Amino acid sequence: MGKLLLYILFWGLPVFSCLAQSPSWADDLINRYDRYRENAISDRRFKHAELEPQLLALAGKPGFEVRERGRSIEGRPIYLVRYGSGPVKVLLWSQMHGDESTATMALLDLFNFLQADDEFNGIRSLIREQLSLYFIPMLNPDGAEKYQRRNAIDIDINRDALRLQTPEGALLKKIRDEVDADWGFNLHDQSRYNAVGLTPGEATFSFLAPAFDPAKSINENRENAMQLIAVLNRWLQQYIPGQVARFDDTFEPRAFGDNMQRWGTRTILIECGGLDQDPEKQKIRKLHFVLFLVAFEAIARESYETLSVRDYENLDYNDRHLIDLVIRDARLVENGKSYIVDIGFNRNESPYNSSRNFYYNGFITDMGDLSTSHGYDELFASGYTIEPGKLYPSVLSSLSSLKQKNFADLHRQGYTDVRLQNVPNRSEYDQLPFRLLKSTAKAPKNAIRVGENPSFFLVKDGRRAYVVVNGFLYKIE
Ligand SMILES: [Zn+2]
Repeated sequence: MGKLLLYILFWGLPVFSCLAQSPSWADDLINRYDRYRENAISDRRFKHAELEPQLLALAGKPGFEVRERGRSIEGRPIYLVRYGSGPVKVLLWSQMHGDESTATMALLDLFNFLQADDEFNGIRSLIREQLSLYFIPMLNPDGAEKYQRRNAIDIDINRDALRLQTPEGALLKKIRDEVDADWGFNLHDQSRYNAVGLTPGEATFSFLAPAFDPAKSINENRENAMQLIAVLNRWLQQYIPGQVARFDDTFEPRAFGDNMQRWGTRTILIECGGLDQDPEKQKIRKLHFVLFLVAFEAIARESYETLSVRDYENLDYNDRHLIDLVIRDARLVENGKSYIVDIGFNRNESPYNSSRNFYYNGFITDMGDLSTSHGYDELFASGYTIEPGKLYPSVLSSLSSLKQKNFADLHRQGYTDVRLQNVPNRSEYDQLPFRLLKSTAKAPKNAIRVGENPSFFLVKDGRRAYVVVNGFLYKIE
């Protein structure tokens, strides 16, 4: 917030006049989003089998052309979708990394939008007449199948731009050369732990105009890419102020973005990061959908020319200092001595159901003085003492017998860990404020140590007020 204030003080009126230039149709479109949202896909872990019918349904729709252009290593078809017949050629490819699917979802919304006939026809005809759009949604369907970054033989397609050994990477290069694209959109997701510089703001979007040489030279094409990013940042700041960053621009000789720029395509990398209260990235998807159209308009009208390289360079770099949960200033007692510590938990996703779903596994990622980190959730626990949770003495028969008990009573008595005769699948009790164990299990140590996943209470004046289980914080009421 302080940064934003400073920015306004320094730049005064120009900030507001630039905001005023933001396309008003784009702001109207945000409010009309539900008309175009593709509801068949509503979370991040969808697979090729769910995407494919959406793409095939576009064939035969007015203005669209859909063709299978290649296959992944495991034989899944990769499609090229075309729209528009203008002189400026724009190539967009999503999900080169299989577990980075936000842009693919936004593309489906965009396809719905382009088919509609309503008050936004002006922007549609501008796009159709000025641009030729080429989309490759889900370039890495085998990676998407396992919800992993790499392809079926564990090669990172984004390090294969020179050797072109993967069919997916080779196809991307072939289509780029065929199209001779003027613009390229390299669509990814990044860690939710990236923040905007040293601020607490999550880097919900990060951009990069990739370098085409180790010296990070700026030629006209790269300058244009930077100018376009400046346009996108200006628009996003209205909706997510202080949550746009730029990606490190060190030249990566094997990556597609860097080589696209080298091959003469003005390339921008878009990375979707984290947003509070949006674990499935559906709010980010909505912004991304409109962002595509803001970009297309700026390219079609060449309005990016009014912004400068400096507008791009004013963006802060990503800085990875976010944590899922931080407990601050708690008292930790070890061997009779007290220490005031911050404890940070992150949560990994453990997949099940062939990677279609997941549950969380919490772990302490850091402890001590975490004043340079920020938590998505934070608790100021000054005056509270950490007390490890205890094992409930008797073995219960099942999850339902536990659910018949009063959770708050069990917590007030200090219990976090419960043995059951029949432990259900983890998927059946995600985010239950207890750890479930087999009937033969020993009491967990609940050690407050980095890498461990302890259950513990925060106690003040002899009262257990909060409990942490599996990296989630619960108030005891
Ligand atoms: Zn990626």
